[in-house]
Amino acid sequence: MPLACAFVCLHALVLLVFRSQGAVLTYPFLLLCPTLVIAACGWRVATVERQSRSAWILLAAGMFLWLCGMLLSAWEDIFQHIPVSVAYFSDVCFFLFDVPILLAISSVSTEQSIPFFVWLDGFQALLTGYLTYVTIFSVTPLSGAQLQPVSISVLLLTYKAENVILIVASTLRLVAQPRGHERRFYEVLCAFLWIYGVMAWIYNDLAVSTDTHNLIDLMADLPFLFLAVVAVIPTSPRFQRVQPAQRKRLALFIENVSPIFYTVALLALSMSVIRRHFYEGMVGVFTALVVYGIRMTTLQGRHLRVQHELHEARDRLEAMALTDGLTNAANRRHFDQTLIVEWNRAVRNQEPLALLLVDIDYFKRLNDRYGHPAGDRCLISIAAALQSMLPRGGDLLARYGGEEFAAILPSTDEDGARLVAKRMQEAVRSLNIHNETPTGELVTVSIGITVFESSYAEAAEIVEAADQALYRAKESGRNRVEAMPQREYLRERIG
Ligand code: GH3
Ligand code: MG
Ligand code: MG
Repeated sequence: MPLACAFVCLHALVLLVFRSQGAVLTYPFLLLCPTLVIAACGWRVATVERQSRSAWILLAAGMFLWLCGMLLSAWEDIFQHIPVSVAYFSDVCFFLFDVPILLAISSVSTEQSIPFFVWLDGFQALLTGYLTYVTIFSVTPLSGAQLQPVSISVLLLTYKAENVILIVASTLRLVAQPRGHERRFYEVLCAFLWIYGVMAWIYNDLAVSTDTHNLIDLMADLPFLFLAVVAVIPTSPRFQRVQPAQRKRLALFIENVSPIFYTVALLALSMSVIRRHFYEGMVGVFTALVVYGIRMTTLQGRHLRVQHELHEARDRLEAMALTDGLTNAANRRHFDQTLIVEWNRAVRNQEPLALLLVDIDYFKRLNDRYGHPAGDRCLISIAAALQSMLPRGGDLLARYGGEEFAAILPSTDEDGARLVAKRMQEAVRSLNIHNETPTGELVTVSIGITVFESSYAEAAEIVEAADQALYRAKESGRNRVEAMPQREYLRERIG
C-alpha cells in the first residue's frame, strides 16, 4: 500500500514538474500499472488453490491486452506516426481487454467445468470480440481495407457500454457466488471493475477536451494499483471454507446460461456481419454451430454416464443399508422387511412359513477368553456356515442381533425346518472353533423353530414363537433344536 501511494505521488510529481515532456514521461507509469497487475496475478496463480487459478490467468490475459493497447497508444502518441494498418490496434486491444474478463466472470465453477469447454469458450469469446469490433468499427484488422474511423463520441459510448456490461456482469456473479476461495476472486474483480469503470468514464470525458498529459493520468493508475495491492493480500481462512449447500439459484442459473451466452452472441453477431464481411460471418456461424453440437453431445454423454454412476451408487447404498457390516448376512432391517413380505405371501398362497432363531451358546465366554476379534471371526464363519445350509433362492439368513441369527424359510413345514436346523448345527460344529463350555470343547448353537400356517397371526408373533422355542432350547441345556408350532404358541398364549 505505501508503495502504491509512492507510485502515485511520483507520477504526479513527474507530471507537474515535466509538463512539456508529459507524453514521454507518463507512459512508463501507465505501462507499469498493468504490468504490476500481471505480476500480482502470476503470484496469485502460483499460490492459490487450483479452483481459482484459471480465473486469475484470464484476468492476467485481460491485463496483457490492456498493456498492449497502452503500448500502441504510447507509440502513436510519442512518435506521432504509426502505420495505418496498426492504427486501430490500440483500440482493438482496449476493446478485447474485456473478453478474458467476461470469460472469467461467466466461467462455470471448477467442479462443473470440462477443460475442453474452457478452450471452446475462449475461442468463441475471442471470435465474438473480434466480430463485435468489426461491427462497431466497420473494419477488419489486417485486411488492408480502407479504415472507417468512428466518431470519438461513438467510441466513448462504446467503451462506456463495455464497462457497464463488465460491472453489471461481475456484480451479478459476485452476488450469486457462494462462499469459498473462488468468491475471493470475484470480490477483487468486482471492486476493480467498479473503480475502473468510474475512472474510465471520467478520464475519457476529460481526455477528449485536453490534448496534453496532466494530472488526470493519475486516474488511469488508481484501479490497477488497487488491483495489484488487493491481489497480493493473502486470502483469509474464512474464504477457504467451501459451502456448496449455500449455492443459490442465481449462481446455478448463471452457470447454466453463461456457456450458451457466447454461442448465441456469436451466432447473432456472425449473421449481422455476414452481409458486409461474408467469410468472417460464415466462420462465426460455423463455429457457433460446431461448438453447440460438441457441447450438447459431450454434455449428453456426460449426463448418461453420471446417471449410470448414480444408479450404481444407489444400488450399492441400498445393498449396504440392508447388509450386516461384519458378517455380510442380511441385517435386521432386511429381515423385518422380508418377514412381512413372506408372511403376506404365505397367507395368500396358504403355505406354511418357517422361522429359525439361531443363538451361539456361551458366546460371551469365547469373547472373554479369546478376545473380541476372535469373537468377530467366529461370527463371520458361523454366518457363512449357516448361509451354506440355505441353498434355496427364497430363503433368507439375517443377523438378528449380537450373536443371534434368523432364517426365514418360505413354504417349509416343521419337518423341513427341523432338517435345516440339524444341518446348521452340524455345519457350525464342523467349523471346529474352540470354546470350552458345559456343552463341550467346540462352539455350538441352539435353535428355536416355529412354523406358522394359519392367517390369524401377525409377523411379530412368528418371531415371538421362535424366541420362545429358542428359550426352551437354552433352558434344556443348549446345543439343541426346539420347536414351537403355531398351535402350541396360541394355546400357551391363551392359557
Ligand atoms: P447363551 O448360551 O445363553 O446364549 O450365552 P451367551 O454368552 O452366548 O449370551 P450372552 O447374551 O450372555 O452374551 C452374548 C455375547 O455376544 C455378549 C456380547 O459381547 C457378544 N457379542 C454381541 N455382538 C458381538 C459382536 O459383534 N462381536 C463380538 N465379538 N461379540 C459380540
Ligand atoms: Mg443371545
Ligand atoms: Mg448366545
